Amino acid sequence: SIDFKWIRDNKDAMAANVINRKTAADVEKVVQLYEQSCHLRGEVDKLRAERNAVANAMKGKVEASKREELIEQGKQLKERLAGLEEQLTKISELLYFEGQRIPNTTHPSVPIGPEENAVVRKQLLGFDRLVLKENSLFQLKITWSLGLLLTCSILRPQQSTPDIVRSNVVEKCGFQPRGQNTQIYSIEGTDLCLAGTAEIPVGGLYMDQIVSNSVLPLKLVAFSHCFRTEAGAAGSATRGLYRVHQFSKVEMFIICCPEHSEAFHEELISIEEELFDSLGLHFKILDMATEDLGAPAHRKFDIEAWMPGLDRYGEISSASNCTDYQSRRLNIRYRPVSEALAVKKVKGSLPPLQFVHTLNATACAVPRMIISILENYQQEDGSIIIPEVLQPYMGGLGFIRAR
Ligand code: AMP
Repeated sequence: SIDFKWIRDNKDAMAANVINRKTAADVEKVVQLYEQSCHLRGEVDKLRAERNAVANAMKGKVEASKREELIEQGKQLKERLAGLEEQLTKISELLYFEGQRIPNTTHPSVPIGPEENAVVRKQLLGFDRLVLKENSLFQLKITWSLGLLLTCSILRPQQSTPDIVRSNVVEKCGFQPRGQNTQIYSIEGTDLCLAGTAEIPVGGLYMDQIVSNSVLPLKLVAFSHCFRTEAGAAGSATRGLYRVHQFSKVEMFIICCPEHSEAFHEELISIEEELFDSLGLHFKILDMATEDLGAPAHRKFDIEAWMPGLDRYGEISSASNCTDYQSRRLNIRYRPVSEALAVKKVKGSLPPLQFVHTLNATACAVPRMIISILENYQQEDGSIIIPEVLQPYMGGLGFIRAR
């Protein structure tokens, strides 16, 4: 559920946020529709109460003429109510449609403006420090919580999250399932889409759930195929492996309570940093600017690695704190008390359910990893040195030679 009351009460800040993020959302329209819907709901409630009063009056002993009058009154109320309810449904649908376009709030440290305003937080020089690091992607499985292990064992027979997802889940995650410039492929004649990222099926898995406080934070890793239309993409980076319509990706996903999401965002970025550093890549971590955040992210850190073929840095990963943007829409909640307390307390006195925060971050987007490794490790004779951390997974090979 989108917090329309909050949007109305913070209308000016939200309008400025929409401008900063250059999104096609109309805060004024949303506020107007919200006020209309509140007014209509009030009218509907009033008429329902009147209708009930008439129905109750008819239950007792009533003179024939008075009964006629009540019947007529009831009929009129029913008609007016049906009209108002129809209007309310229409306004609610419009409000939902317009409301979906409103982006998340923005972290106060996020630089305002286009992509080039991103601020470099850190730069790692990679090449001259090609040392074997203990932290590899595979170690994630040990260091992350039970949630991850369970999910891994559940996923093992399937290997990856589903490729096909429902449009409503896509939308609730903050992506546009249909429309001209959407990145999402939709399947004609159905309400289904191809998943653009594992964040969508994983988010969908928790839709309408109350997550037990005792399992938070839920730290998940998912392998998925990602399908992207890449509408609007142009230039040399559209050739080759850099920008493809289907690729595979290992994604980290966290569900946590609101007060911890900033710290987990830092944790995700530090895991990414260790992964890419262990591969000896030369990369920088960027605090992305408002126009590059998309709808769901409150703050986003991208990592760009040096790609000699492109003669520039290219994005290899992205870590977003989506705060309660996705959880409100997907309706993922938790009760902010310990399980023990929840059992002891009488139901009515428990603190209310709250929306969780969700975060997602790329561990490995396969095509861009291949580019980064091949282009940075290729030798003059064409052979490619295999980074030490990957050698155990390559049958111990130290290098491969192009034939
Ligand atoms: P995103 O979910 O858009 O933040 O993308 C996550 C990561 O996937 C990016 O940082 C890229 O490394 C990679 N990626 C995104 N789009 C493509 C694409 N069309 N082809 C190959 N890799 C991609």
